[in-house]
Amino acid sequence: MKDVWFHFKGVLKCSAELTEEAVKVISEFIKFANEDLLKRGVPRSLDKREHGAEIESWEVSGKELRFKIKSDRYVRAHDAALRLKNALAGRLGSLKIGIRGLEVENFEIIADWDLPEAPRMPEILVEKMRLDDGKITLKVRLEDEADLRNRLPDRILRLLEEKRERLEWRGKEEHWELLWESPERPTFFDKDPTQEMQERGWIRHGAARGQWIYGPQVTKIFRTFEKIIDEVILKPLGYVEMIFPKLVPWEVWKRSGHARAVYPEIYYVCTPKTRDPKFWEDIMDYFKITGEVPTHMIMERIENIGGLCYAQCPPFWVFLQGRILSDASLPICVFDRSGTSHRYESGGIHGIERVDEFHRIELVWLGTKEQVVEHAKKLEKRYTFIFEEIFELRWRKAWVTPWFMAQEGRLGLAEKKEVGTIDFEALLPYNGKWLEFQNLSINGDKYPKGFNVKLQSGKELWSGCSGIGLERWTAVFLAQKGFDVEKWPESFRERIGELPEVFKFV
Ligand code: ATP
Ligand code: ZN
Ligand code: MG
Repeated sequence: MKDVWFHFKGVLKCSAELTEEAVKVISEFIKFANEDLLKRGVPRSLDKREHGAEIESWEVSGKELRFKIKSDRYVRAHDAALRLKNALAGRLGSLKIGIRGLEVENFEIIADWDLPEAPRMPEILVEKMRLDDGKITLKVRLEDEADLRNRLPDRILRLLEEKRERLEWRGKEEHWELLWESPERPTFFDKDPTQEMQERGWIRHGAARGQWIYGPQVTKIFRTFEKIIDEVILKPLGYVEMIFPKLVPWEVWKRSGHARAVYPEIYYVCTPKTRDPKFWEDIMDYFKITGEVPTHMIMERIENIGGLCYAQCPPFWVFLQGRILSDASLPICVFDRSGTSHRYESGGIHGIERVDEFHRIELVWLGTKEQVVEHAKKLEKRYTFIFEEIFELRWRKAWVTPWFMAQEGRLGLAEKKEVGTIDFEALLPYNGKWLEFQNLSINGDKYPKGFNVKLQSGKELWSGCSGIGLERWTAVFLAQKGFDVEKWPESFRERIGELPEVFKFV
């Protein structure tokens, strides 16, 4: 946003009548404020008469001083009002008049706005919004002085800026740029592998939505993938296994940034308000009589604390939170495969490739910027080896810049391909679509910053992560290679051996 202005209208409540003498003091003070006090902070290069804050008008009645301030971005009107209050308190003090409080009557943020539409802003904070003549005006709801001290208007402005960037991205989730594509390769199957697996009794729907029970054959495929990952990636690159928590409290998502947007896609986790059985007795009885679980009654007795694992690495960072790492321990490479990830995919659920409960190996690496970038290159090479030499897939790599990068002012780094994500995608012959089956991200200093992790030397600590989705790998492999094991690449066949046949149904 090019330019922004703030308009403030409010009242200072004093402890005594503002006498003629007091009015004289105020009048002189306001002259001084407009020339000096409310100009402190305007850059030297700018004309003080045109920038900073200014008291536009004021009037005294009884114990009240009502005034209006307008400002630009240098000395913002809300800061100016507080500055005014503090400085005036000193002057009126000599007349034995105290200042009881500062009330906000009206607050507006006006900003240049070159987009045709206005964004949606939260109504609890923004009462009214108007768009005209290339400017947007927000009437902000400020309750009291504390809102000024907490710089609520600044936060609202930041949100407005973020929404603008979002609109500029035209609703796209991410920018996509092809980096590399494999040669065309023969595929041996043209149906949906999930259906085929169901018909063969390899998998069956779990009782929950978007959940599968994987029989012995697919489980062996999953485990073979893990063996390959172990052999080609984890061992040679020096990865060490850890176990990351799978229940993620808000505290973690606030720091990882997920609290900004994760709401429509998570599985929420709640605790009972009490574990006193009496509190739950009527619910138990209800079930005993009706055979139904009264979820509406349960909702009132539980408290949300967070959600189930969505991205795998955020809860890992609590391990390092607030600590200082020795430079000698870098680079650090750890991985987690200790449990499921959960996403509410709504109507998007499809086969085993888009599910609500999935299995993923997450690699996390930490180091200096150079180390992290270099490690990502190594990892990319090794992934390429697996998909080219072991699986012989038809696949491609794309550089994607998620919109939150734009919003965090990191587009420059993304353009240099230092921070951002490579998506690995493969063709599904049965529908002609490309499916992302894993990713590799360089996250810059985002996580160390968010979780307050530092390096002993004071250098910037960076990190990266990569999520390998076992369902997606399976979907891609079977969609291209089919179910005739003879046709599978030799390099995979020798690793997997025989598929177990266990259940026989009549
Ligand atoms: P998509 O665009 O396909 O929804 P995403 O961008 O949401 O994928 P990421 O957040 O990058 O996926 O997650 C990393 C990896 O986790 C993916 O590459 C994929 O392997 C796996 N994954 C994500 N969502 C699902 C899902 N619903 N079902 C199975 N695997 C998933
Ligand atoms: Zn991650
Ligand atoms: Mg997704």
